[in-house]
Amino acid sequence: MCSQKIIIGRRDLLFILTGAGVSAESGIPTFRGVNGLWNNFRIEELANPAAWARDPELVWKFYSYRRRTAAPCRPNPAHLALAEVERQLGERYFLCTQNVDDLHERAGSRRLVHMHGELFKSRCESCDREPFDDHSEYESQSAIPRCHCGGKIRPHICWFGEVPFEMDRIYYELERCTVFGVIGTSGVVYPAAGFIHAVNQRRGIPVRSFYVGPEPPANASSFTQTFVGNAGNVLPDAIFCE
Ligand code: NAD
Repeated sequence: MCSQKIIIGRRDLLFILTGAGVSAESGIPTFRGVNGLWNNFRIEELANPAAWARDPELVWKFYSYRRRTAAPCRPNPAHLALAEVERQLGERYFLCTQNVDDLHERAGSRRLVHMHGELFKSRCESCDREPFDDHSEYESQSAIPRCHCGGKIRPHICWFGEVPFEMDRIYYELERCTVFGVIGTSGVVYPAAGFIHAVNQRRGIPVRSFYVGPEPPANASSFTQTFVGNAGNVLPDAIFCE
């Protein structure tokens, strides 16, 4: 039970940013930390355009593994609590996730963007064909499908060195929010780590901010309030909508 509360008033606009920590209790490993994915895989070999150009089979093996391990995971109380807040606030709620899993959607969230892409979507490496739903696993070079234009089908993921998705929409929502909440992110991956500074430096609209996670993030001093604990324990009681 959480004694501190974030009160969302009738005129407040809530912006929520989530990171890998919100899915940790569902069994999806975070990137960093004791059970972090990067302890088992070398990021520089996998999550960048050069790796794709050099060894698409290895890149697909990594994302196939992540699809396989994420598919049976279920939304946890943190995802469900956020979906309930969205239900109460409607258009006054906006969720930006760095996560590529689909647990927010499976909990019922609809007003969200995946700034780093979606694990269960693929797209063409060459043409501007729309990303499409894809749960398949591609474990060999010959299994990687081709687009009708001839390009290879790649994961719909924003790799290091690529521009995150939906940034215009995200900055529009950052400009107008009155409450900014961050859940389960280490605060070192930009541009998301800089969103707190963007809202704090705005002129005209005061903002309240909070962080939820088991340890303070790298940018902890920038938040009005910090809830120390696992998101699944803290969130169901922390946000109160008037
Ligand atoms: P990160 O691994 O750097 O940090 C995870 C953070 O979550 C840490 O600060 C940790 O203290 C916190 N945390 C751990 N357990 C928690 C819990 N139960 N409740 C709340 N917080 C908890 O992850 P990040 O900051 O999101 O890194 C950004 C990158 O990680 C993004 O690019 C994102 O795409 C990627 N990522 C996504 C997933 C996913 O889709 N589920 C998984 C791993 C990494």
